[in-house]
Amino acid sequence: MNQQPGRSGLIFNEPLLWEKSREGRCAISLPNSDVDRVELDPELTGDAPELPQLSELDVVRHYTRLSQWNFGVDSGMYPLGSCTMKYNPKTNEVQAARQGFAGAHPFSGDEFSQGAMALMYNLEQYLAQITGFNAVTLQPAAGAHGELAGMLMIHAYHAKMGKQRSKIIIPDTAHGTNPASATLCGYESINVKSGEKGILEPEIIAAVMDEDTAGIMVTNPNTLGLFESNIKEIADIVHAKGGLVYGDGANMNAIMGIVKPGEIGIDVLHLNLHKTFSTPHGGGGPGSGPVAVTKALEPFLPIPRVEKKLDSYKFVTDCPDTIGRLHTFYGHFGVMVRAYSYILSMGAKELKNASTLAVLNANYIKESLKGTLNLPYDLPCMHECVFNDEFQKKDHITTMDMAKRLLDYGFHPPTVYFPLVVEGAFMVEPTETESKEDIDQFINAVKAIVKEAKDDPEKLKKAPLLTKVTRLDEVTAARKPCLRG
Ligand SMILES: *Cc1c(COP(=O)(O)O)cnc(C)c1O
Repeated sequence: MNQQPGRSGLIFNEPLLWEKSREGRCAISLPNSDVDRVELDPELTGDAPELPQLSELDVVRHYTRLSQWNFGVDSGMYPLGSCTMKYNPKTNEVQAARQGFAGAHPFSGDEFSQGAMALMYNLEQYLAQITGFNAVTLQPAAGAHGELAGMLMIHAYHAKMGKQRSKIIIPDTAHGTNPASATLCGYESINVKSGEKGILEPEIIAAVMDEDTAGIMVTNPNTLGLFESNIKEIADIVHAKGGLVYGDGANMNAIMGIVKPGEIGIDVLHLNLHKTFSTPHGGGGPGSGPVAVTKALEPFLPIPRVEKKLDSYKFVTDCPDTIGRLHTFYGHFGVMVRAYSYILSMGAKELKNASTLAVLNANYIKESLKGTLNLPYDLPCMHECVFNDEFQKKDHITTMDMAKRLLDYGFHPPTVYFPLVVEGAFMVEPTETESKEDIDQFINAVKAIVKEAKDDPEKLKKAPLLTKVTRLDEVTAARKPCLRG
């Protein structure tokens, strides 16, 4: 345990700012006024807001302590499957904070925004190249928003072809946002089961694909962390009946520089810049879910589009078949700057290397823990691997107990109880940025916890024991949150 990154230092208590407030205490000293004091009409100003009265040090300590109660990629390993919580190089933050980018105003007009527009244009080109597609929109604000954009384009495509379709095929290993996005477009989701190996079998798709089906949404790599190796054959089946293939590319971190989804039968794909392309996420901050399309779908892309003529850029809105606007202005520009900076600083070779390492790290964990935790699908995995609590059932220890105990060892728990196809799932995504030493510490922590499950199950049931708050009644915590320290 001493070798683990878990807590051994102090965790400070911290009252509310209101409780720290003392009459007359102040964090600023303004120069004496050299004009006469004038009382304002209270009818106009109302009562002055009541604010806590604090010194500068009170405020600095308050926020520093609160930040130390938090956990992030910068403080420790965060192996949250499906989320790609990798380390984001600080240079990307520096570039996004540059005055020319951070201070750019969407009303400046094309003429004064050429640099920002060049960045957007080039980023679209890079993402098209990485994914193997014809064109890209940067407008959607998140992965699920990208899915909505893609499904609206599929809908518009079928309308243009003269016949709307009513259904969409969605496998059991798709991300949960997929059926939600399809439903928002008015489609009925047709659920299909994956084969025994955890991937789709072409026969299953052939059996349900018909001419009233708009297409299929495939998460690849899927939520079991497995590559859908029959994707090309499946795409042929769907295309033969006039359908289109939507690719959920949120897991591009596993295949960058290795597979181009545009070359294996996918027609439209979204990426998560806030996963693969180095924007910090997890706190609900701005994200970006660009969508890449084939030539046939290009006319349906959202407007405005950024175009390059000779050496200048302009925003274009006269696109008759567009699905319209999905976001105010052009999307989340700051996230685009980070992705652009990331791609340029990595280069093609290192992007490929990142994916290779992400896959290697996940397979290392899979092989190291497979006798310790049950591994329902024992195939070479992509960027993540999915275990469950089958072996611990006899000791009445669950995935939740083990996840909570990991906090005591200094790790953010992996994703639990997702994907739904694995009962009691424990889904680990180490990402490429963790070192072997850190991954070994994680593996050792899981092994120690599994040993505790046999030796001291009562203790495990109460975990976490070293955190600021210990095991919560999660229902009460969600329904009646207590936000005091
Ligand atoms: C994260 C994720 C999404 C959703 O992305 P958001 O940005 O959270 O909307 C969709 N599909 C997959 C496979 C994902 O991992």
